Amino acid sequence: MMKIGLDFDGVISDCGRLKSDGARKLYGVDIPPAKFKKEIVVGEGHLTAEQYRNLQNVIYGTREIGFLMEPVDGVLHFLPRLVADGHTVLIITSRGEPELKIAKEWSIRQGLRLDFVGVGYGNSKAEAAIGLDLYVDDDLDKLADLIDVVPRRFLFSWGYNAHVDVGTIAKRVASWEELHRTTQA
Ligand SMILES: [Mg+2]
Repeated sequence: MMKIGLDFDGVISDCGRLKSDGARKLYGVDIPPAKFKKEIVVGEGHLTAEQYRNLQNVIYGTREIGFLMEPVDGVLHFLPRLVADGHTVLIITSRGEPELKIAKEWSIRQGLRLDFVGVGYGNSKAEAAIGLDLYVDDDLDKLADLIDVVPRRFLFSWGYNAHVDVGTIAKRVASWEELHRTTQA
């Protein structure tokens, strides 16, 4: 049985559609949900770093909008199965309050009973991840911080991280079904 750590945004919740709609409404720019990651959106000059951060604040920090997040495909089926298989699951997110509170409430509404640690925006997850056997994130930088901390590291694949070379930092998983299979090996 393993101690499994999971990122929240991009592993459990999918904010791609909300960010895409928000960017159109707030800034009049058209960015497809699958491309919505800071490196791409800011890196390619669609939004400034400040605009991106503001958009994140609006989406993660506004209750009415935050509750419109979609669950990632398969999570509602396979995450409870991980627990049923006997694994311990801990969510480690970069969200701070009040964004964390919204994530917790959203999870309960989705029928997910989860334990959360919020490390705050821009902070490493290393300390919170001590003792975990496996960790999953959609951000390779977060996984890079865990090389000496968590033995098995997985990047959850999306269009926005498809260009990233994972090297020895992590292996990829493309779906919750694949992730569940991986934990059975
Ligand atoms: Mg994430």
